[in-house]
Amino acid sequence: MGIIGDERLNDLTHDEISRYSRHLLLAEIGIEGQKRLRAARVLIVGTGGLGAPLALYLAAAGVGTLGILDFDFVEASNLQRQIIHGTRDIDRPKVASAQDRIRALNPEVKVVTHNTYLSRDNALDIFKDYDVVADGADNYQTRYLVNDACVLLGIPDVYGSIFQFEGQASVFYAKEGPCYRCLFPTPPPPGLVPSCAEGGVVGVLPGIVGTIQACEVVKLIVGGGDSLVGRLLLFDAWGMKFRELKIQKDPACPICGRDPTIHELVNYEQFCNINLADEDEKKFETITAIELKERIDRGDKLQIIDIREPHERAIAKFAGSKAIPLGQMARRIGEFDPSIDAVFLCKIGQRSIFAMRALLEAGYTGRLLNLKDGVNAWARDIDNSLPQY
Ligand SMILES: [Zn+2]
Repeated sequence: MGIIGDERLNDLTHDEISRYSRHLLLAEIGIEGQKRLRAARVLIVGTGGLGAPLALYLAAAGVGTLGILDFDFVEASNLQRQIIHGTRDIDRPKVASAQDRIRALNPEVKVVTHNTYLSRDNALDIFKDYDVVADGADNYQTRYLVNDACVLLGIPDVYGSIFQFEGQASVFYAKEGPCYRCLFPTPPPPGLVPSCAEGGVVGVLPGIVGTIQACEVVKLIVGGGDSLVGRLLLFDAWGMKFRELKIQKDPACPICGRDPTIHELVNYEQFCNINLADEDEKKFETITAIELKERIDRGDKLQIIDIREPHERAIAKFAGSKAIPLGQMARRIGEFDPSIDAVFLCKIGQRSIFAMRALLEAGYTGRLLNLKDGVNAWARDIDNSLPQY
C-alpha cells in the first residue's frame, strides 16, 4: 500500500496540523496520510494548462517536494488557461513564475526547478529523485518518453491530455497495470492531431483534467481509494459527460510486457516521426511575409489561398486572399490556375502544408508556396493592424 516508505515519515508540526486540518479530519488521509504527502517527491512535467492545477493543488495539499519541469516562457496566449502564471509573468521562464506562485501558496513546499527540455539524455537522471511523475506534456514524444522512463524506474506516470473540449486521464503504473504503450502502441502520424495552439482548447478543460491528475497523485501517495490504474477516463466538456474504458496490460508490450525489447530510452522524435514531418515540410517552397509583400507591391499575379475555417479567418483577415478551407482543397482544384503561383496561408504555416499536399495528391501541377509562419508573420512583419493569435 502506498509508494512512500514508513521510514521517511516524521511528526507534523503544530503549524502543519493547522494548515492541513481538513485532510487530517478525513479517516482516509489523517495524520499518517499527511506525513506521506510531506515525505513525497512529485515531478510535474510541464507548467502549462495541466501543470498549473497540478502544481497549485499539490502544493496546497502539502506535497513536500515538487519538481517542476519546463523550458518555455510565459506568453499572453497561455493566460487563458495556465492559471499558475499571471499577466506580469509574460516573458518570464515558466518554472520561475510557477515557483513564485507555489511559494506564495505554501512556503513549506520545497520546489525544485528543472528549466530544461526533457529528453532521453536527462529524463532518467531527473526522474530518479521522484516517487511519482505527473505528465502535463502537450506532445506525443514527451508522453512516450515519460512513460518509458517511469516504467524503467518503476514509478507511476499520472497521465492527462486535452484537446478542444475533450480530455483524458489515467495512471500508468506498470507494476500494477498497463502503461501508455499498452494503450497506444504507436503514435498517430505527425500532424494528424493538431496541437492546442492550432486547434484551440477551452480554458477550463485543463483545469478539470489537471485537477483529476492531482487527485490521483494524492491517492497514490496516501495509498487509498480506487486509482485510475487500468482505466482511461474520458471527459467531454461540451457535452459535460464522463466515460471510462477498461484498459489492460498488453503481454506483448515492448516495455512492460512479458518479454520486453525496450531496456533503455529510445529516440522519441524518430519514434513519433517528428523529423519525418520536418523533412516533409522542407519539400515545400516557402515565402516570407516580407517577400510576399514585395511581390504584391510589384503587382505580381498571385493566388493567395487562406485555408482557415471562417471562425478562424474572422480573428485576422488576410486582405486579397481567397478562402478555401483545408477539407475542401482537393475537390476545388478546378478553381486554381496552374500558370500562376499559389501562396497558402494558415495561422502559423503548418496546416497549410496539408493543404498543399492535398492539392498535389489531387494532381495539381502549378507552383505552390507556403507563407512562412502564417498570418501571424504577416501581422508581425507587415500589417500591425492585424492581431497575432
Ligand atoms: Zn506496457
